[in-house]
Amino acid sequence: MKPIYLDHHATTPVDAAVFDAMAPYFSEKFGNASSRSHVYGSEAEAGVDEARASVAGLIGAAPQDIIFTSGATESINLAIQGVAAFYRNRGNHIITVQTEHRAVLDCCKSLEQKGCNVTYIPVDKDGMIDVNDVESAMTGKTILVTIMYANHEIGVIHDIKAIGKIARSRNVFFHCDASQAIGSEEIDVEKLGVDLLSLSAHKIYGPKGVGALYVRRKNPRVRLAPLLHGGGHERGHRSGTLNVPGIVGLGKACDIIKNSRAKEQKRVARLRDMLKTALENGLDGLAFNGHQTQRLAGNLNVSFSGIDGRALLTQLGDHLAVSAGASCSSAIPEPSYILKAISVPYELAQATIRVGVGRYTTEDEIRIAGEYIIKAVHKLRKAGAKTKARLACSGGNHGQ
Ligand SMILES: *Cc1c(COP(=O)(O)O)cnc(C)c1O
Repeated sequence: MKPIYLDHHATTPVDAAVFDAMAPYFSEKFGNASSRSHVYGSEAEAGVDEARASVAGLIGAAPQDIIFTSGATESINLAIQGVAAFYRNRGNHIITVQTEHRAVLDCCKSLEQKGCNVTYIPVDKDGMIDVNDVESAMTGKTILVTIMYANHEIGVIHDIKAIGKIARSRNVFFHCDASQAIGSEEIDVEKLGVDLLSLSAHKIYGPKGVGALYVRRKNPRVRLAPLLHGGGHERGHRSGTLNVPGIVGLGKACDIIKNSRAKEQKRVARLRDMLKTALENGLDGLAFNGHQTQRLAGNLNVSFSGIDGRALLTQLGDHLAVSAGASCSSAIPEPSYILKAISVPYELAQATIRVGVGRYTTEDEIRIAGEYIIKAVHKLRKAGAKTKARLACSGGNHGQ
């Protein structure tokens, strides 16, 4: 049997209704959405139009504000690089946060090489920023603030409305990476004062390799230099033949969220809290990372004292698909930059797991997951204690 999937921040399975909506666009409705002269093109275009309205409808935007991309990574690159290039003459300063997704941070790093200045705002031990830091980082050269809605590792939700207000008052564009939040939080680009917003289909039970960028067209109008040049698709923002089945899938995924979000958010939060309570009752030496109320419904990020993180993942691996707080690709596990930013000590960071509860997670699975984690931690702590006792008895100095 495959392990129980609790890694919904990494990706989600495609909803059956999304799959069904996409299917005809691979076969009978295979046309190029830009082919204006025949029905193959127009039926593909109709599918794209409907999807555009669905994505826009989920975030309080107009359909014309939505640019389809290959995913959030591309949307983020288009937003940040697009603004930086187009408004080069206005300024070269960007404000972001230390705990952003790699796509944002690496985009900013690459712009630094090209002469931009970037301020990376720190977070407190709960993973929260002080919005006053955004205000005080502003200079006459600031052109963009880019801050995520919700963090993909520790689940914390930033005060996007307050940030939007500051950015607007200073005439600075505000981009928000909402990849993790869009599936569970109510998001309205008007109410939040967001000018650019990135999202991805595969984080919300849609297909991989498709996403969208919201680009405000008025009050104020945002202009972007394109990353991809060619046939001028997507109002010239993103050339390339549209991924019609993927786009239709993203649209359907957005419709489902719009109709089920409020209820689903409660259900997922209840399961997450069940797991948290089970762990608290079954173990001591636990630390839950990230602000415990300002957070995503499905996220639990927890560190266990006194165990080896790699051993924990090995123990859990057969039963639970969760993600580690440290990258295990190297011989010496490197704790995540996000756990570092919230000052989780090295020993704890390497013994941290991220649990992501999702749409198809059941109460049974959560109960079993709790039991597995508790059993694994007990076992490793016992083994650790034995090793220590052995070292103590042998009396020798075994170095570090
Ligand atoms: C997954 C994710 C991305 C990247 O999205 P892709 O569609 O996989 O490129 C960006 N930001 C956050 C917060 C994410 O969770």
